[in-house]
Amino acid sequence: MPVAVAADAARRFEEACEHARISRDTHELLMRPKSSLEVAIPLRRDDGSLEVYAGYRVRFDDTRGPAKGGIRFHPDVDPQEVTTLAFWMTCKTAVMDLPFGGGKGGVAVDPKQLSAAELERLSRAYVAAVADVLGADVDVPAPDVATDEMVMGWMAHELARIRRGHQPAAVTGKPLALGGIPGRSSATSEGAFHVLEELRASLLGDLDEPSVAIQGFGNAGAQLASRLAGAGYRVVAVSDSSAAVHDDDGLDVEALRAHKDRTGSLQDPPSGEQLDAGRVLTLDVDVLAPAALEGAVHEGNAADVRARMILEVANGPVTAAADTILDEAGVQLVPDILANAGGVTVSWFEWIQGRQGEQWSAEDVAERLEARMLRETGAVVRIGQERNLPLRTAAYVHALERLTEAIDATGTAELFSGG
Ligand code: GLU
Repeated sequence: MPVAVAADAARRFEEACEHARISRDTHELLMRPKSSLEVAIPLRRDDGSLEVYAGYRVRFDDTRGPAKGGIRFHPDVDPQEVTTLAFWMTCKTAVMDLPFGGGKGGVAVDPKQLSAAELERLSRAYVAAVADVLGADVDVPAPDVATDEMVMGWMAHELARIRRGHQPAAVTGKPLALGGIPGRSSATSEGAFHVLEELRASLLGDLDEPSVAIQGFGNAGAQLASRLAGAGYRVVAVSDSSAAVHDDDGLDVEALRAHKDRTGSLQDPPSGEQLDAGRVLTLDVDVLAPAALEGAVHEGNAADVRARMILEVANGPVTAAADTILDEAGVQLVPDILANAGGVTVSWFEWIQGRQGEQWSAEDVAERLEARMLRETGAVVRIGQERNLPLRTAAYVHALERLTEAIDATGTAELFSGG
């Protein structure tokens, strides 16, 4: 039997099941992934030595469509993390009503220790190792932590080589020149921006220039900082794994992005005051946007959070124990499976484009992304109001009720709970 999700994710699932009208079948099926593949990935290093890394691809559920989810390169990747992330993808695609299930992959490696050529060989070797379980109708990978469009280009190219033919819908997040779609790399931040704007009046009132702190200055975090700074928000702090930068009058986000591109970190910033990286989570701001890894806000620091609301741009940045503390303190939380769903939504557009041999414009992508984000944000808010649930639980209920419709349509089911 494959490894189950982390205890935290299981607890939230059980809580949501108490409020969702789902069948017993759905509850049983979603307690563990459908399949989980573990592989050894050999990499020839530039110095001629051979290193073998652990790689994974988990298909959590594919009742609603092919499994969908990113591939992560990070030293902490392990079977339980990948499984948990695949479960969240299953819920995320259901929240957005995309014709996908959920999957995730990863390699336990520190990509910062690899040369560009080693990274390319590793990306190709990963695809070679898991190719049997991939495909446009089966399981469709995408970028995640430390895997960008260049990595997706290598992976798509390798899959085409193995299958001896182009597979434009089998990998998303590809470079434009290899069948990618305009706006995919900014899709996560763009989606989060739309969700925030939609909820702004109800969560923040008519506040002028809300202040924002962003933890994580990778693809999603840095692009969100630019987007918000250009839309009347005051981005007062950003951090990466090594440092945080703070300025109450608002940071010069573009100068910081240029600094990070040039030096690789936020240390010794051109302007603003430097803080310890962890301090960004406890600043007195209107919006805190964790955009790095899981578990950033936990039992040990949740009581120190001073933000009025948290926008979960990363997957799983707030633990279940922290949820309870934040809820009691009145901190509003916009959950990851809604807030960061813009990425997979534009992956869906890329998948359609690839299957149909189309070329979408940036305008089409922007318009359809915004429409979908607003539609499903509205649906989650309505469930929250009607059943008196926080947004996180409402988002899970929304997802689980869509999942149960599909799962029950595949066979007979008895009711699990009234909700
Ligand atoms: N890695 C992204 C996520 O966690 C995108 C997944 C996808 O596009 O399939 O949502």
